[in-house]
Amino acid sequence: MKDPKNHSIAILGSGESGMGALRLATKHGIRAFLSDSKTIPVHKQRIIESLGARFEENVHTLDELVKYDEIIKSPGIPDTATVIVELKKAGKAIVSEIEFASRFTNAKIIGITGSNGKTTTTLLTTHILKGAGLKVASAGNVGNSFSDLLVDSDPEVVVLELSSFQLDGIADFRPDIAVMLNITPDHLDRYNYNMDEYADAKWRLVKNMSEGSHFIFNKDDQMIADRVERDTAKYTKLDFTTRTKTSNGAYFLEGYLIFDCEKIIQIVPIEDLPLLGRHNQYNQMAAILAAIHLEVSFGDIMKALTSFKNAPHRMELAGYVNDIPYINDSKATNVDAVYYALDAMTRPVVWIAGGVNKGNDYDQIKNLVINKVNTLICMGLDNAHLIDEFKNDVNQLIEVRSAEEAVARANDLAQPGEVVLLSPACASFDLFNNYEHRGDQFKSEVEKLKQSKESIKA
Ligand code: ADP
Repeated sequence: MKDPKNHSIAILGSGESGMGALRLATKHGIRAFLSDSKTIPVHKQRIIESLGARFEENVHTLDELVKYDEIIKSPGIPDTATVIVELKKAGKAIVSEIEFASRFTNAKIIGITGSNGKTTTTLLTTHILKGAGLKVASAGNVGNSFSDLLVDSDPEVVVLELSSFQLDGIADFRPDIAVMLNITPDHLDRYNYNMDEYADAKWRLVKNMSEGSHFIFNKDDQMIADRVERDTAKYTKLDFTTRTKTSNGAYFLEGYLIFDCEKIIQIVPIEDLPLLGRHNQYNQMAAILAAIHLEVSFGDIMKALTSFKNAPHRMELAGYVNDIPYINDSKATNVDAVYYALDAMTRPVVWIAGGVNKGNDYDQIKNLVINKVNTLICMGLDNAHLIDEFKNDVNQLIEVRSAEEAVARANDLAQPGEVVLLSPACASFDLFNNYEHRGDQFKSEVEKLKQSKESIKA
């Protein structure tokens, strides 16, 4: 980028990333224009004006946008959007807010991506580094945008949660440590329903990495392992696996995680780890490997692990009613996440699933459902996909239209010794505003049920 004072940017989208980019740009004296195809809320308009920038709403005016040196695109706008196609035709450089922000910091960057587990691993990594006394912050797909973070602070380490959409707009961005958790089907509507195109987007995370940087990846994920094999980039490879041994990374052996890499050999009993389930063994191995490579001592790592609490809606215990645990896994919006939720269940399951189907292929969980699910409660406006797939695999199957009904029916149908699991495999927009709304309603219904049972007892 040339001297910021002579640079100008047009920002598409007034969401979290767009507003963050605007703040960071104006802080550095970059002339900025914000354009949104929808209405911009009045309070945001005031902020834009107070920053001395101009904006347009309900339209993208091409003739105006092409006047700026560079375009910063919200991750929500697909490459197929008319405005993007036209700007590309006009020869404009279009980058993501992550790319833009990365020019304004010398912090060490840990970039974390994957189809599932990003938030958990980002928060855990940040928690461990903070516990060790580093000046660290997380940003990206979780919490603040990267730009916003850099407006008011100057961290020494930034842990970035990166979605494939954010990686799509990367040009020179280069993390010091990259973490790739898994690549399983999700968001394929943005990638021509093609897994390779989706994996290409994820792979942008490592494309600029060079000697001295570390790539921490899941060796059990065939798509990742194959790509690492073919990749010619010069990062140091560190893998994690629950299936075999590894000579540089972490692996699982009979109830222990073993960390065996250039710096360290350490053994951690699984019961000392804060997060349950095989998926979380992966996440924890990845976070600990990242911390090891930032020279955090194992003592500090273990101390931090004992105080970690994950974000809500990820295999979260909502409470017990009649000794039956109710688990809120509302964030499980794809089949792979449900696979790990069911895999972790040690009791017969009353499974609450459904919502907006993203073209799910249920093959991966078929056997788990046959072996573990006793009752399926379909909570969605259109449940045909679940009913067609599982009607012969479970003992009971019913349909409901709200979290209230789902919890009430689960209470009626759950047998002693079972577990009730909300793990929908679907987006939430048919009945709820978002996955948080779905999970919160589930938790509040469980709480009400609990209270009503307690008042009966009293
Ligand atoms: P993301 O930020 O990638 O969506 P989260 O940490 O928010 O990931 O978890 C989303 C869902 O995926 C939750 O249901 C969680 O239990 C599940 N999950 C977490 N880690 C993994 C993993 N490594 N593999 C598969 N599923 C996972």
